[in-house]
Amino acid sequence: MNEFELIRNYFARQPVRRTDVVVAIGDDAAVLDPPGGCQLAVSTDMLVSGVHFPEDTAPVAVGHKALAVNLSDLAAMGASPAWFTLNLSLPAADPDWLVGFCSGLFGLAGPFGLQLVGGDTTRGPLTIGIQITGFVPRGQALLRSGAQPGDDIYVTGWLGDAALGLMCLHEKLHLPDAERARVIQRLERPVPRVHEGEALRGLASACIDISDGLAADLGHVLEASGTGASIELVALPLSPVYLAVRDQVGWDPAVARGDDYEL
Ligand code: ADP
Ligand code: MG
Repeated sequence: MNEFELIRNYFARQPVRRTDVVVAIGDDAAVLDPPGGCQLAVSTDMLVSGVHFPEDTAPVAVGHKALAVNLSDLAAMGASPAWFTLNLSLPAADPDWLVGFCSGLFGLAGPFGLQLVGGDTTRGPLTIGIQITGFVPRGQALLRSGAQPGDDIYVTGWLGDAALGLMCLHEKLHLPDAERARVIQRLERPVPRVHEGEALRGLASACIDISDGLAADLGHVLEASGTGASIELVALPLSPVYLAVRDQVGWDPAVARGDDYEL
C-alpha cells in the first residue's frame, strides 16, 4: 500500500461532509469557508507512542484520544469544532491498525460534525499530530485570563477517574472488573466537553480544560488572571468508584493528575 492508497482507503472515507468545506482531501491544500461574524479558534496537539500513550494501546483508543485532546482544547475556548488535519507518522501501513485507528478517530469526529480536510503521512515512529479549527462568535472566546476575585470554580464532571485508570493499567490499584473497565474508559476514551464549552460562552469568566490535573490547570487560569483561589477538597466531585477507594488513594488522582479532560 503506498501513501496515496493509504490516504484514499482510510482517510478520504469519512462520515462527515460539511458544506463549508469547498475543497477537502486530494488537492494541495484544503479550501474552507468560515462563517461571517465568527472568529477562528485553532489548536494543535501531538501524541507520541510510548510518551503520551503506552505502546500497546489499542488503535481505536489512539484514534479516539488523539482527536479528543484537540476537541477538548476547543471546548475550553467555547468554540464549535469544524475542521481538522491529521499528520501521521507510521512505522508500517498495517491495515488492522489503520481500521482501528480510523474507527476511533471518525467515531468521535462524526457526532461533533467535524471533518478531516487534509494532512500529511510519512513513515517513522508512531506519532499523531492533529490540528483542529472551530468557530466562536466574535469576542466570545473563553480565555484563561478572565477570572476575578469572588468567582466560583466549577468543573464539568468527576475528577481523577482517568488517573485511577492509569493506576489500574500499572497494577498499582486493583478494582472489580466493571469499575476497572469504567476508569480505563475514562483514561482511554475521554469525551470532550464540547457542548458544555459552547454553553459556557457568555457565562464563564474564564475556562481551561484539565489535561494536567486540577491544581496545575487551575494554576494556569490564576496566573493568566493575576489572582488566587482556594479549594475545599471535600467539595470536589468524585465518582462512586473513586469514593470507594478514596481512603486508599487519597486526593492526589483528583487534584494533581491529568487526563480527565473536564472543563
Ligand atoms: P503534498 O505532496 O502536496 O503534501 P500529499 O501527497 O502529502 O500532498 O497529500 C495529498 C493529499 O492527501 C492532500 O490533500 C493532503 O492534505 C491529504 N493527506 C495526506 N495525508 C493525510 C492524512 N493523514 N489525513 C488526511 N489527509 C491527508
Ligand atoms: Mg504531504
